[in-house]
Amino acid sequence: MRNLFRGDRGKEVLDVQTRLRGQSFELGREGVDGFFGPSTELAVRSFQQQRGLLVDGLVGANTWRELVEAGYTLGDRLLYLREPPFRGDDVLALQVELNLMGFNAGAERGVHDDDVERAVLDFQGNAGLPVDGIVGESTIVKFAALRKAETGREGKKIPERDGGYVQARSLTGQTVVVDPGHGGPDAGRVSTGGLAEKDFTLALGLRLAQLLRAEGCRVRLTRERDEAVPLYARASVANDARADYFVSLHANANEAPVAHGAACYYFQRSHYYSEHGRLLAEYMGARLERTGAACLGSFGRNYGVLRETRAIAVQVEPLFLSNPAEERLASRPDHVETLAKALVGGLSDYLARARLKDGPT
Ligand SMILES: [Zn+2]
Repeated sequence: MRNLFRGDRGKEVLDVQTRLRGQSFELGREGVDGFFGPSTELAVRSFQQQRGLLVDGLVGANTWRELVEAGYTLGDRLLYLREPPFRGDDVLALQVELNLMGFNAGAERGVHDDDVERAVLDFQGNAGLPVDGIVGESTIVKFAALRKAETGREGKKIPERDGGYVQARSLTGQTVVVDPGHGGPDAGRVSTGGLAEKDFTLALGLRLAQLLRAEGCRVRLTRERDEAVPLYARASVANDARADYFVSLHANANEAPVAHGAACYYFQRSHYYSEHGRLLAEYMGARLERTGAACLGSFGRNYGVLRETRAIAVQVEPLFLSNPAEERLASRPDHVETLAKALVGGLSDYLARARLKDGPT
């Protein structure tokens, strides 16, 4: 689907509006009229805000996927383990139910993976239901019956996406997947000087991979050349490799050329966030700051690559391609080297410090 934005008209806009209204977003006087006017843009922005997406008021692939997933309510369809997995708010609701009752359905990502399957089987066995892994009416009815005893999720432990498990305190032996953003026809942001985000992320990713290997990490890249890699394929590289860490590389951009600095992101979706992702993002941000960059902070986001990967995942935007000074830095190999070293340092700090807190003794 092409990007939709203000001024667009047609069936696709009608579809977006219908979905927004289904989610109870206000569409103003015009209602569902197939025209992407100010009210529709406002509704898109509210939806993006609520769902932890980038709030830009346009409907691109991420927002569209989220609109589709938001439309599913638990019970709308049978849920079970399959490839590709079911994704949506119904799966999210299923995970919340199971986690509330103490069946570990994993990180609340809204993806029906084997963690969810295991929890469903466990629940069905305990509830005296046929143990078939299929979430249909009988299983959902059982949830409702058992839920009455529940008082809410306050004080309940939300499972960490990596189970909070700690194995190592050094880089040696860690499996890291490095994901240079964009590629092929998707150039990402292009600076006024003509530097494409896809080229910057590839240069940084290749160097980062080399440095991590030198530290004894097992490293895989989602791409090693200028080629298109779909979102789910990027996540599959990490999930298939059973990666411990996933580092997605991008560059920032803003209409205001003065905007500058480094930002790091971790997975967050409504009340759920990845505690270890947040810590890793903070350590990486701190190291980037030591290279002289302004650190804008670390932010929880429901970005596709963060959500689809089971590893502890961060997205790093070390600079703004729209800032003239940072654009110049981005094209300098010595600066790319500095940034790559900072990211290795961030991961190393995380392993050495953050993981001590809940590590096995
Ligand atoms: Zn990007």
